[in-house]
Amino acid sequence: MTSSIKAFLLLGASGDLSGRLLLPALGQLLDAEPERRSVRLVGAGSEDWDADTWKQRVRTAFESASVSTETLDAVLADTRYLRTDVSDAGQLRTLLEATPAPAALYFALPPAVTVLACTALTEVELPEGTVLALEKPFGTDQQSATDLNHLLTQLVPEGQVHRVDHFLGRSTVLNLLGVRFANRLFEPIWNSTHIERVDVVFDEQLTLENRARYYDSAGALMDMIQSHLLQVLAVATMDPPAAVNEIDLRDAMASVLRATRLWDDDPVTAGRRARYTAGTVEERLVPDYTAEPGVDPDRGTETLAELTVGIDNARWAGVPFRLRSGKALGERRKEVIISFRQPVHLPTGLRGQPASDQLRLRMGPDQISFDMNVNGPADPLVLDRVRLEADLGAGRLPAYGEVLAGVLDGDPLLSVRGDTAEQCWRIVDPVLQAWRAGRTPLETYAAGSDGPEGWAL
Ligand code: NDP
Repeated sequence: MTSSIKAFLLLGASGDLSGRLLLPALGQLLDAEPERRSVRLVGAGSEDWDADTWKQRVRTAFESASVSTETLDAVLADTRYLRTDVSDAGQLRTLLEATPAPAALYFALPPAVTVLACTALTEVELPEGTVLALEKPFGTDQQSATDLNHLLTQLVPEGQVHRVDHFLGRSTVLNLLGVRFANRLFEPIWNSTHIERVDVVFDEQLTLENRARYYDSAGALMDMIQSHLLQVLAVATMDPPAAVNEIDLRDAMASVLRATRLWDDDPVTAGRRARYTAGTVEERLVPDYTAEPGVDPDRGTETLAELTVGIDNARWAGVPFRLRSGKALGERRKEVIISFRQPVHLPTGLRGQPASDQLRLRMGPDQISFDMNVNGPADPLVLDRVRLEADLGAGRLPAYGEVLAGVLDGDPLLSVRGDTAEQCWRIVDPVLQAWRAGRTPLETYAAGSDGPEGWAL
């Protein structure tokens, strides 16, 4: 796709996200699509960096992703860095005047600073076609998300706002579209008549990894479920869109999230939370979460969260959807599991109890598998279980590469629409409130275990 975007303006260019994910993904995108190399990279941040320091940062980031020297040289020849306080309208104006227009402004900033920057931008005339890309978390609750949406409408049209959720750029998530809608085998049975339950699991072995400043005030529910896993749920459960474009796809996702409710409408029982204690993950000694530098134990931050929701529509009424994510777990497990109902009748003479057929889409490495009942191999009349499995490949680009392609194309297909961002908070807000009020117990699990007792999937 061609685009009129002339520059990629990275606000917060010295931060962790920029260095570890965005710059490497930009390099990989430019490698895969060299025709994009004419877009100028401009970095901006509070650090007082000279040109050489900035170029070294770009070089290090590109090298970490094995980006080609052709791409690196092309970017280095044209890039620049400007020290900017992004909360200052005058400095932002100067920055924009020094940047080819229209630009894509990527807010790789702490969320509160993003709000300050957007407020300051209301005093700056933005060139036509300017694109804004905002990171998660988008707001801190439904009201703040609504307020931020309102602020953004004063800057650019909704179609030029990219609320980034890089899970929507993950190839496994996009694979759900093909699996669901291109197979006669699955599409007609993708409903409560045939599907018993759905689990979306994102268990990590990673621990806090020095991210207490952000994570300790967020926690697993806000960090993973409120954003990423609800987006995965939407793709897994939406009605078939007429087309995969920014209107139809995002309408379908918004519609199913509007119908999503806490299980039993009870914020206390719909969610569970737990925090890791000292243990061992893959032979690595892990301290108690509360002993990690920067953690305030009194915050009661959960490192493992589970949320069960239902979807009040004709397709899904009565089916539980369990979303779960946590850190410091024994097994790395990132998958969507579709569990089908038992057959209506088992012919007399076939022995054994059929288990639920399960379709699994795994992320990193991306795989698809189907666990099903067969009979044999020993006694041909006794039921047995087999797994059909296929590797899906790594995807053309990393998730952030797909996201950046959308941003540079001005195509918000893979970004979260404003109303959807508010819906995601509407779903989790009551649970967060119940947790803050201490109405749901904070359980514990040893790092390296599979969670508290009774949590096994
Ligand atoms: P960091 O704190 O590492 O980086 C933020 C950057 O913003 C720093 O370079 C900081 O500079 C700069 N900054 C802060 N205030 C200003 C200001 N007034 N003017 C100019 N620059 C400023 O945060 P992250 O990179 O980790 O996160 C950025 C965003 O990305 C957050 O919204 C986060 O939730 C999101 N995110 C992060 C992920 C990650 O893995 N890091 C993953 C997914 C999302 P200085 O330090 O000099 O003040």
